[in-house]
Amino acid sequence: MTDKETARVEWNSYRRSAKSRPVLKVLKEMNGQRQRCVYCCDSRSADVDHFTPIAVDYAQAFTWPNFILVCPECNRKKGARFPRDNEGNPLIINPTREDPWEFLILDTKTGYLAARFLEEDFDPKGESTVEIISCINHEAVVEGRRRIIARYYEAVDCLLSSGDPKNSTGKLLREIREDEHGIGSWFARREGKEEPCFSELKTRFPSIWRRFVREACSA
Ligand SMILES: [Zn+2]
Repeated sequence: MTDKETARVEWNSYRRSAKSRPVLKVLKEMNGQRQRCVYCCDSRSADVDHFTPIAVDYAQAFTWPNFILVCPECNRKKGARFPRDNEGNPLIINPTREDPWEFLILDTKTGYLAARFLEEDFDPKGESTVEIISCINHEAVVEGRRRIIARYYEAVDCLLSSGDPKNSTGKLLREIREDEHGIGSWFARREGKEEPCFSELKTRFPSIWRRFVREACSA
């Protein structure tokens, strides 16, 4: 057996054994209360995936920073696919270390994620992530995003039209806590902040805006 095959066999045996349970438990805790898949934010995150696949680098089969918690579908889609650029850097987003909004944009009308367009072409990392982990744009996932987006709009509108905006702030902050997809950070520090209602919130209630930004970016 080659070293790669040995690493695969050892990993499979470890994964099926009770010894892997504490690792899974810690990873789930790190993914927050709802234990969502790091890619599609689905609640069924149950698989420990190797960000750098064993087939690509067997030496990282038991390396803690190489573990990410994903749902079975994202795990299957990603598999051993691991495109890299000419310098060998991965062309797939690692959400545990990178801000996905650097490479992706959110269409707030449809809920779809797409590769960010740079000066002349689409961001290669965003492009290959959307293509390989295609579940991030599955209908149910997109619908979940649309629901969260609608709730944010409603909370901001309520705040803007309220005679007592301080009392309505709680509703907006609650949305951040309920936001399973991390969309608050899109509105707080990416293109979403230019949308009329968020722009108005920033101008009319700067202290509430700052609190929203702080909480959305640390969620
Ligand atoms: Zn997933």
